[in-house]
Amino acid sequence: MAAPSQQRLVVVSVSPQSRASLAVQLQLNPTDTARKLTSFFKKIGAHFVFDTAFSRNFSLLESQREFVQRFREQASSPQALPVLASACPGWICYAEKTHSSFIIPYLSTARSPQQVMGSLVKDFLAQQQHLTPDKIYHVTVMPCYDKKLEASRPDFFNQEYQTRDVDCVLTTGEVFKLLEEEGILLSELEPALLDGLSSSVSAEEPTSHRGGGSGGYLEHVFRHAARELFGIHVAEVTYRPLRNKDFQEVTLEQGGQVLLRFAAVYGFRNIQNLVQKLKRGRCPYHYVEVMACPAGCLNGGGQLKALDTPSRELLQHVERLYSMVRTEAPEDVPGVWELYQQWLQGEASERASHLLHTQYHAVEKASSGLSIRW
Ligand code: SF4
Repeated sequence: MAAPSQQRLVVVSVSPQSRASLAVQLQLNPTDTARKLTSFFKKIGAHFVFDTAFSRNFSLLESQREFVQRFREQASSPQALPVLASACPGWICYAEKTHSSFIIPYLSTARSPQQVMGSLVKDFLAQQQHLTPDKIYHVTVMPCYDKKLEASRPDFFNQEYQTRDVDCVLTTGEVFKLLEEEGILLSELEPALLDGLSSSVSAEEPTSHRGGGSGGYLEHVFRHAARELFGIHVAEVTYRPLRNKDFQEVTLEQGGQVLLRFAAVYGFRNIQNLVQKLKRGRCPYHYVEVMACPAGCLNGGGQLKALDTPSRELLQHVERLYSMVRTEAPEDVPGVWELYQQWLQGEASERASHLLHTQYHAVEKASSGLSIRW
């Protein structure tokens, strides 16, 4: 047992994509999976178990706000648009290494749900618990290995306390292996409620967002921008597949004029196409949700595979379970505005900018494959 001075509060934050993958594998519904996972992590020593759908509310709200601001600045700032979503570290790693200073100005600065959760746990929760950030060990459960690279970025390292916002990232597959190694059958565990980050944050059941399994960035930014910039309420967002199902377009039109043109671009083949359009000055989009994995995060490289089920069929099953969870608009989530006031000292404050946004860095071309830098 660790000496009292070395004991740390252990926090686990589980992504909705990992939960859906585990739910399929364990033949449970998403709510039971969330509750039994909570029970499992507490059994092996976690003090708190959170859902990263909650931190995603902040990531979406900041993305919405940033887009509207940059849209209004486009006349005076040539690189204000398009805004390229930045929640996928696979894409960011590629953008920084391959196109660096050309792409960086277009990237959204909003932190991803994992890294917003890092701020919530190491800053807000630390204050609540009267602990310094280094006295908390924060583990996340994510659908891909690239989230480990994201957590290790110097931007998310606290120099003062020599600690990271996220100390350890486990993929969905690694959690499944852990269950097997511990000899624990999740179905036999007593369910336990997820934890909420403050008393007004309900954690009775897991929640999610509209707009697909990669976080719904396009859909949320689109609805918000239509309302804020043009006073138009969008009841249903209609996707139009272009080259293939991983390159889709959404437009807002009025009187035959296109007011907003957004795209969802998944997989490196389509990303390369998008970058070429940008470089030739022929990118027609105001906002692009960019994700490195074909089909997005539910198909991440850290998700569970099934030997006896074709991957397309398995993915459809995961998508079905993912979409069974109740969705909320981030504006309506209890506790979010309270945290903006109490923790961040208001929307668009310096603190919100510091804790909910990040920056990107041009990476020198590596001279050998062994010297890759993040
Ligand atoms: S698209 Fe793939 S690499 Fe990118 S965050 Fe999602 S799972 Fe990870």
